[in-house]
Amino acid sequence: MAAYEYETHTYDAIVVGAGGSGLRATLGLAEQGLKTACITKVFPTRSHTVAAQGGIAASLSNMGPDHWQWHMYDTVKGSDWLGDTDAMEYLAREAPKAVYELEHYGVPFSRTEEGKIYQRPFGGHTTEFGEGPPVQRTCAAADRTGHAILHTLYGQSLKQKAEFYIEYFAIDLIMSDDGVCQGVVAWKLDDGTMHVFNAKMVVLATGGYGRAYFSATSAHTCTGDGGGMVARQGLPLQDMEFVQFHPTGIYGAGCLITEGARGEGGYLTNSEGERFMERYAPTYKDLASRDVVSRCMTMEIREGRGVGPKKDHIHLNLNHLPPETLDLRLPGITESARIFAGVDLTKEPIPVQPTVHYNMGGIPTNYWGEVLNPTTDNPDATVPGLMAVGEAGCASVHGANRLGSNSLIDLVVFGRAAAIRAGQIVDPTTQNGPLNQASVDAAFDRFDKLRHADGSTPTAALRLEMQEAMQADAAVFRTDKTLAEGVARMTEIAGKMADIKVTDRSLVWNSDLMETLELANLMPNALATIVSAEARKESRGAHAHEDYPDRNDTDWRKHTLAVVDGARVDLAYRPVHLDPLTTEDEGGIDMKKIAPKKRVY
Ligand SMILES: Cc1cc2nc3c(=O)[nH]c(=O)nc-3n(C[C@H](O)[C@H](O)[C@H](O)COP(=O)(O)OP(=O)(O)OC[C@H]3O[C@@H](n4cnc5c(N)ncnc54)[C@H](O)[C@@H]3O)c2cc1C
Repeated sequence: MAAYEYETHTYDAIVVGAGGSGLRATLGLAEQGLKTACITKVFPTRSHTVAAQGGIAASLSNMGPDHWQWHMYDTVKGSDWLGDTDAMEYLAREAPKAVYELEHYGVPFSRTEEGKIYQRPFGGHTTEFGEGPPVQRTCAAADRTGHAILHTLYGQSLKQKAEFYIEYFAIDLIMSDDGVCQGVVAWKLDDGTMHVFNAKMVVLATGGYGRAYFSATSAHTCTGDGGGMVARQGLPLQDMEFVQFHPTGIYGAGCLITEGARGEGGYLTNSEGERFMERYAPTYKDLASRDVVSRCMTMEIREGRGVGPKKDHIHLNLNHLPPETLDLRLPGITESARIFAGVDLTKEPIPVQPTVHYNMGGIPTNYWGEVLNPTTDNPDATVPGLMAVGEAGCASVHGANRLGSNSLIDLVVFGRAAAIRAGQIVDPTTQNGPLNQASVDAAFDRFDKLRHADGSTPTAALRLEMQEAMQADAAVFRTDKTLAEGVARMTEIAGKMADIKVTDRSLVWNSDLMETLELANLMPNALATIVSAEARKESRGAHAHEDYPDRNDTDWRKHTLAVVDGARVDLAYRPVHLDPLTTEDEGGIDMKKIAPKKRVY
């Protein structure tokens, strides 16, 4: 057994992750007087949420008529009828409250003439249950909305005396023998000391796993660490086959050009200069939902109408917009286009291509953020002491496809919900129980094994193999053949974790070891993604299967659950929650409005 000295810290609640969801949960927990700590591997305001540009959806009706039920309808349709109805209702209903709270906390939103929060159109957001024109629902702080939210929430959390453990890397969960989460083990990156956190509630807010792919808009820190920790405890990951490609990543570099660019009037053209989205989505055109636009772009490229010498990308035009609009509403992307594509937005189009952007799947939870471990008797059984929020979790509100600006609202609505629920469960007057020492030791053993790993495959080489396999085989379009090849390839690649080589054995700022721990987390996420995709014989949302082009509600309107053990994945399924929180008589939505139908924009 590996012997590491460690310091023990005791809290009512700990949150792993300081992105939008982690900070909103931290703030909510601390506000209720719970002794709360937030552990984060990067400085809080460097979390990927800082990069969110476009905005946060809520039916405030500041720019015209809107209603939470229209927002709910759009979310249900966006999810391609795979989201859980209760969670989607909760999101749409609570969204305005959560945004006004942000406003009162001090988020510097852009303003209308009358001083109200400015809202812009975004893909898939409509009026009148999809029958009316696009709605302006996405609240924005110019094109730096995530930045504004993150800084405000960090300041507020400090004000509430939440404690921060910054540049601490959480390694593994501590679980009791009967499946209760008791805390986490963490490694302090800058001095190599080890730390054990004992908590009555652990909230995972570790973000997505975009870096399982070669080209992604997400930060290099988005390595699915929460999913990895959960998978190692034999708990399932949900709906991992649904990976969102954003239509407008800058060609080559992968950096994001926000959908807000199309919201402000930007449009896509092919090599013939044609606004091709008018052909595919006559009503909402360039503002159809992301999966639809990404597929249309891929089809244009496949049919030889891509731009550039290799005819492998598409143009995004903004040069017809007044320079003042670009200045006021899109200053950040004006700069990104200049730096990463060498393009002057006022004169030339931006070269773009569909790029991995968001993981709809993740750690299954109910709409309070409590982690689910479905059993045959109870598909909604929870794991005591464990919650997950944000992109790491799967509530599931995004189902098979997330609408733009629905993630930031998911972060704050469910970060807040998790804090409310934890406030009901956690009793601050009781003492923390003793930790399961075997579980603590197991975490140190795994850490030590990787630290001294002396195989023949360097971490960076294996990571690249994984990223290339995922990019090629779990792509925008999928077939039985590419998916079967992908499963075989990824199974072999995951097996090579046993042959990993770590060169640096120190404990201080050892990025080699940290990246190896991250790769060990990416791997189960990637494997679950491709195996779940291979099994799903239909097309739904972001999962576009060429051999099964239609959605099949009879057989496949169900959530995938993937339990990963090394290179092996076992699949099971869980029913979608079809019941809303409130009936029509109680002021809820008319269920006929959200009955499944063909998804056209
Ligand atoms: C470029 C870009 C633009 C986007 N724009 C929008 C937008 O306009 N609107 C919208 O709704 N959505 C947008 N999204 C999506 C949205 O921003 C993300 O889904 C969301 O920010 C994720 O937030 P999070 O709180 O889940 O995690 P993140 O913000 O990714 O934070 C993860 C946190 O977990 C910590 N962490 C991870 N692993 C560990 C570990 N092992 N130990 C300790 N700490 C750990 C990290 O330090 C970090 O603090 C965008 C995404 C990208 C990539």
